[in-house]
Amino acid sequence: MNTPTPIFSEATTAASSGPRFTGEELAAINARLADLHPHQIVQWAYETFGAPDVKAGTGGLVMTSSFGADAMCTLHLATQVFPAIPVVVINTGYLFAETLAFMAEMQARFHLNIREFRTKNDPVTWLTIHGEPDPTVRNNVDACCGANKNEVMDRAMHTLAPAAWLRGVRADQSEARAKMQVVQWSPRNNCYAVSPILKWHSRDLFYYMKEHDLPHHPLWEKGYLSIGCNPLTCTRAIGAGDDARAGRWAGSEKKECGIHLDMGGGI
Ligand code: SF4
Repeated sequence: MNTPTPIFSEATTAASSGPRFTGEELAAINARLADLHPHQIVQWAYETFGAPDVKAGTGGLVMTSSFGADAMCTLHLATQVFPAIPVVVINTGYLFAETLAFMAEMQARFHLNIREFRTKNDPVTWLTIHGEPDPTVRNNVDACCGANKNEVMDRAMHTLAPAAWLRGVRADQSEARAKMQVVQWSPRNNCYAVSPILKWHSRDLFYYMKEHDLPHHPLWEKGYLSIGCNPLTCTRAIGAGDDARAGRWAGSEKKECGIHLDMGGGI
């Protein structure tokens, strides 16, 4: 494991017990991180929050990954600093077979410490009970995301109780994400959310992945630039010139599954 020489003053390995920074301190941290490379932001997060407690398996820094189109960018940035970082994967029961295969391949190649959390629901039974006759369509996406994604995310964060959580959101992906800070307190998850590539654009990810010879999700080449679950109403390929996230819940107002929002698991 790389143990970088600390260059940031917040270094500590204490587990989460509520916000450790005042609003002023957090603003100063965000100002200081604003122009740093994502690698340095990850380094700050690791120095500040440390590794989870080995015995308890809680506290410290974790990350989430959907193993989506360009997930390897954030995974590479994180594991260059903290190779054993727990990688939380939310398995809704409706992931593409290609996503599961890609995850397994990346786990073997990069020795990823994956912590997979699954929905409590049987995927077929859930559709039947909730009046969803066509598995390629979700009529009530909020109910499905609430039961099969947000509940799982809440359970994962409650189980691991990290001090901070690295995520791969970008400001240019949605209105909600444009309002995010690189480091912000998440009351819902009782930890800090750290977004090292928040200010990057898709071209920055593309060049980083090219420089480090990192693979995209196999569906990326088929026009899937943002990849979630397999119903056509949740993820579809996009055309030339479309916004990268235009294929997510296409034709509906929904822009977020909710795991990056502090609204609770019911959305
Ligand atoms: S993205 Fe679609 S299939 Fe996945 S949990 Fe949400 S509504 Fe269900």
